[in-house]
Amino acid sequence: MYHNSTLHDEPARLAAVKRMAVLDTAPEQPFEDVVALVRSVLGVPMAAVSLIDEHRQWFKARSGIAAAETARDVSFCTHTIGQRVPMVVPDATADARFMANPFVTGEANVRSYAGVPLETADGYNIGALCAVDTKPRDYSEGEIAILANLARIVVKELELRQIAQRDPLTGALSRRGFMDKAAQEIGRTGRYGHPASLIMLDVDHFKSVNDTHGHPAGDQVLRELAGLLTMLKRPSDVLGRLGGEEFALLLPETGADSALAAAERFRAAVAEHPIELTGGIWLKITASFGVAALTPRIATPEDWLAAADGPLYAAKRGGRNRCVLGGAPSQVRLSA
Ligand code: GH3
Ligand code: MG
Ligand code: MG
Repeated sequence: MYHNSTLHDEPARLAAVKRMAVLDTAPEQPFEDVVALVRSVLGVPMAAVSLIDEHRQWFKARSGIAAAETARDVSFCTHTIGQRVPMVVPDATADARFMANPFVTGEANVRSYAGVPLETADGYNIGALCAVDTKPRDYSEGEIAILANLARIVVKELELRQIAQRDPLTGALSRRGFMDKAAQEIGRTGRYGHPASLIMLDVDHFKSVNDTHGHPAGDQVLRELAGLLTMLKRPSDVLGRLGGEEFALLLPETGADSALAAAERFRAAVAEHPIELTGGIWLKITASFGVAALTPRIATPEDWLAAADGPLYAAKRGGRNRCVLGGAPSQVRLSA
């Protein structure tokens, strides 16, 4: 089947997780339905759709499990994604990998586990669909086959969400939709020689917004930010949500200097516009911006994003709340 490289290339696997643009999104019915099915068909008290991020497992859907995410190193599913076949642990207390696991020794009282990798069409295991029980047990071949079928449904559903061109939280284009527009722009500009630029932005210290005010407040910030950018951009500019708290704007007919000026306007507006959270709390946020004009060396949307990602990283390193224009490797210009 696949070369084993897709199983062991962790950076490429993480990129596949990111492409799904699913981490930290709100619950959605199809995934809720699948975990409910797993529970009732396999007769287990716990089931989850687990995505394995760099340092955590995050549950797109969970039933019978209190935490929304856990550290990766204590997760059972991180073992499942290391293989192509289902992982079954009939008795965790008799398994050297899990006997000292806090979910086994602690309150969760995990005793048995069955998980099937969520494998993308291109062969990356982005997570697992799992059934968990508080007593030791075996799973029949038929039960594992059902779990495997449901895992395929989960992956299909994740792929369908991606094809949808709008991000439901913010109304911005999805990553996939934005990349399609960027590809069109590269084609058009290549043919007619017009300028075009791409701005990539990432909210500064967004994790602390979630940590301090809660995830719904974080969602509110993302909605308001998308609304502000939509108001400030030109009608012909395209706003996309690349994932998490990372957005991008495509500016047709706009060269590097004008794009940097636009980014600077967006930056200032974000920094000056406090966001009202429920409960009458006003929150100030900032974002960092990377700008890349289209050049003949940019052949794909991925190239273009990469050209903006470097300057964005430089803006972060430079202290955040600033814009950096990419360009000739030695001359990066700062604003703010
Ligand atoms: P930096 O200034 O370096 O960008 O720091 P940061 O905290 O913004 O960056 P980091 O990537 O560590 O944290 C991003 C956080 O965004 C973590 C994740 O939980 C949160 N997040 C991603 N997507 C969403 C979302 O849709 N809603 C909410 N509320 N939080 C999200
Ligand atoms: Mg980020
Ligand atoms: Mg950030």
